[in-house]
Amino acid sequence: MTRKTNHTACIHEGQIQDQQFGGAISPIYLATSYPFMDVEEKRYPRYFNTPNQQVIAKKLAALENAEAALPFSSGMAAISTSLFAFLESGDHVVFQNEIYGGSHHLVQEEFSKYGIAYSFTKGMEISDFESEIRENTKVIYMETPSNPLLNITDVRGVAKLAKEKGLISMIDNTFASPINQTPLDLGVNLVIHSATKYLGGHSDISAGAVAGNKELVDRVMYKGRNFGGNLSDFMCFLLERSMKTLALRIEKHNENAQFIAEKLTEIALVKKVYYPGLKSHNKHELAREQMYGFGGMLSFDLADDIDAKSFQHKLKMIKSSMSLAGIESTIIQPSLTSHALLSYEERMKLGISDNLLRLSVGLENKEDILDDLIQAFEK
Ligand SMILES: *Cc1c(COP(=O)(O)O)cnc(C)c1O
Repeated sequence: MTRKTNHTACIHEGQIQDQQFGGAISPIYLATSYPFMDVEEKRYPRYFNTPNQQVIAKKLAALENAEAALPFSSGMAAISTSLFAFLESGDHVVFQNEIYGGSHHLVQEEFSKYGIAYSFTKGMEISDFESEIRENTKVIYMETPSNPLLNITDVRGVAKLAKEKGLISMIDNTFASPINQTPLDLGVNLVIHSATKYLGGHSDISAGAVAGNKELVDRVMYKGRNFGGNLSDFMCFLLERSMKTLALRIEKHNENAQFIAEKLTEIALVKKVYYPGLKSHNKHELAREQMYGFGGMLSFDLADDIDAKSFQHKLKMIKSSMSLAGIESTIIQPSLTSHALLSYEERMKLGISDNLLRLSVGLENKEDILDDLIQAFEK
């Protein structure tokens, strides 16, 4: 899909006009105490309605084509609050088999304690989701492109299935960012982000966000008032600053990742490259249909006789890093990091081998990123 990228919303949407001095940027309002308005409309940080929180809410809502949005203190705060807002004891939820390791852990560690049943699909097809739906299912949860294999789920199809069955559909849109994918336009009910990743983009912000129609977002907000997990006003300011260049950054991430993915397929020591922008990706056509760009994340399997750890040590510029989506290129071995909490069997079932590396392609000159990889292969 193509559309005109909304650089203008990134820069201007939601900004607080500085009435006092006419400054060019949003002032930071640090107050935790505001005048009492009425019982419903108290202004307070944990109520998700301080001026700087509202900047993020408006900007993200504009980018996701949403009625409403909320900033959180982490992606996991956004994910857990959203899930618990729509699930209670006796309910069931269907998760896509491949989701962020922390989300997987949340479900496995916590849900049974609260009497919430769950299933993981065995694949990414609509039928895999449909076959897991039970009488007490309330929510379907997907993540696409997925971490770390960049699998693509049919967003429109899953959203339609959820609608037919009267379920709430949720998506973790972190890897795509709203610049590359706007799931609400495809019929999804609730979009979730780890803003620690592309929305922040400079490896210096921990934040999360939720977007959707006002009724659903309000439900998440009321749960959030009980759970806490609101984002501080300082961090909102920093996130606003980051989001001004979101579209610009994502366009460059897309360009660099496409270039690196194509070049990696030509390297003999690489067994397989996972990137939705490659024609060889099994869901390339679907990705083209539901995304505006393919993103900055890719993974690849090293040849069996290369040690993944020593390969990473040979890299000079690309640092090994737990996180992703920064302006700098980083690399990790998912089997030791994001998916270390899964058993070997669970990882194998997902196709995450010990020789899989996930590359977060940054904004350096793309030739420099490639050169660093090539010199490491040569060694
Ligand atoms: C990092 C990440 C999360 C969790 O976000 P935090 O900000 O670390 O809590 C959730 N989903 C995806 C896809 C992520 O990459």
